[in-house]
Amino acid sequence: MARIAVGGFQHETNTFAPTRADYAAFERPDAWPGLSRGPALIEAVAGINLPAAGFIEAATAAGDAIEPLLWCSAVPSAHVTEDAYERIVAMFVEDLEAVLAKGSLDALYLDLHGAMACEHLEDGEGEMLRRLRGVLKDTPIIASLDLHANVTRLMVDEADALVAYRTYPHTDMAETGARAYALLERRLRTGKRPALAFRKLDFLIALASQTTLAEPARSLYRLVDEGHGDDGRLWSTSFTTGFPPSDITDCGPAVFALADNQEIAEAAADELAHAVTAKEHQFATRLWTPDEAVAHAIANNKPGPMVLADTQDNPGAGGNADTVGLLEALVKGGARGAVLGVMCDPSFAAAAHNAGEGAQFMMKLGARSGLPGHRPYFGRFLIERLGDGRFTGTGPVYRGARMALGPMALARVLDDRGSEVRVVVASEKFQAADQAVFRHLGVEPSECRVLGLKSSVHFRADFEPIAAEVLVVVAPGPALADPRHFDYRRLRKGVRLAPDGPISTGPRD
Ligand SMILES: [Zn+2]
Repeated sequence: MARIAVGGFQHETNTFAPTRADYAAFERPDAWPGLSRGPALIEAVAGINLPAAGFIEAATAAGDAIEPLLWCSAVPSAHVTEDAYERIVAMFVEDLEAVLAKGSLDALYLDLHGAMACEHLEDGEGEMLRRLRGVLKDTPIIASLDLHANVTRLMVDEADALVAYRTYPHTDMAETGARAYALLERRLRTGKRPALAFRKLDFLIALASQTTLAEPARSLYRLVDEGHGDDGRLWSTSFTTGFPPSDITDCGPAVFALADNQEIAEAAADELAHAVTAKEHQFATRLWTPDEAVAHAIANNKPGPMVLADTQDNPGAGGNADTVGLLEALVKGGARGAVLGVMCDPSFAAAAHNAGEGAQFMMKLGARSGLPGHRPYFGRFLIERLGDGRFTGTGPVYRGARMALGPMALARVLDDRGSEVRVVVASEKFQAADQAVFRHLGVEPSECRVLGLKSSVHFRADFEPIAAEVLVVVAPGPALADPRHFDYRRLRKGVRLAPDGPISTGPRD
């Protein structure tokens, strides 16, 4: 029986986004639990598709003892504040020291993202691993990473072993926790750290093109799943597609391999890196303007809703879920049977709750983040339905997640141009990647003619099966779909921003 400390600290940082993540953002629950410390951690993550849950389940089944430290996450946004990062990492150090004071510890497992950038340092996870390594000395540290990790040399050097998700939408988060447990178990059994080979790739992949439900990512992850040879000497390989909206030195995809010896690790990393690089040109997705997408959706006569992904305001990539470009296009285009979600506007939701179901009012909706060039939608609304924002996720990504989105409303836009457009409004940011958020307000997604979703890729797991067609729409917003449009100032030199596209010139002021 091993004694294993477990913790998690998740943030995906879009350095171009409008709002930073402060301590309160990690403290409060959203789609995922709020900051949970000590034994409360185990209950907080239980049954949710989260790496920590999968790890704890696997370790417990094997008879190991869990020492819970703390787990927290905040919705993707701009930088984590120095205050939040330092307070949370200090808690990790304190809790780990308390665990060590009670007796010897066999290992530490961490549920990390890998794309956390802070006000005062670029590589949140690498620095955290370095500090915890200082506390633990030679005790093994194993961590799982998001597929969107911008992996650094510091991360791979400070951990004994890392392993990343293999799906986008991330349906294998809990499974990745179990994978991390298998690596940890092997690390303890062999008594030896695996050899590591790490390759940073020199091009960026747009988020919408990273989905593993389509080529080329689908077959690349099949390579990762199946491994290379089966003599058992290769422990694991990972391919992280990276998170382009992050202006840091090490932004971009990477591959890494862990094996019994250096030669095997190097060969596996080379093989995977070559396979990915050979498909660089295939990472492409058609992007639609809002007007084109609405016209195409209205003309649809296939069964099922037309799904319009409002990718540039995806709160899962740092948007604030409050831009109204797609809403305006739906109303102006005369869309009928259309529902857009999930707008985050606490003031609107509060006004709707004050007015009550059936009430009508004139109100501004959206543009609360004050992004330059963005104005709210102003018009008359009918409040059709209210909700308290508490429901449980049912789709493949958010299964089991106990949502706390605050006061919610279903508002119909009253407009004399013949449109029939409804908006789902919440008080917390939530990526529209789960049908349950619509059902919470009495909307059956499969019966809608058009669904506007503030999401880039995660929605595909739950919505593609009911969709007539999926269009990725580029309404104005902060989560730019095309990495060529970001003003990188820290990205290392020589990175292609698109296949055959411009190449980064290196850091500048
Ligand atoms: Zn991710």
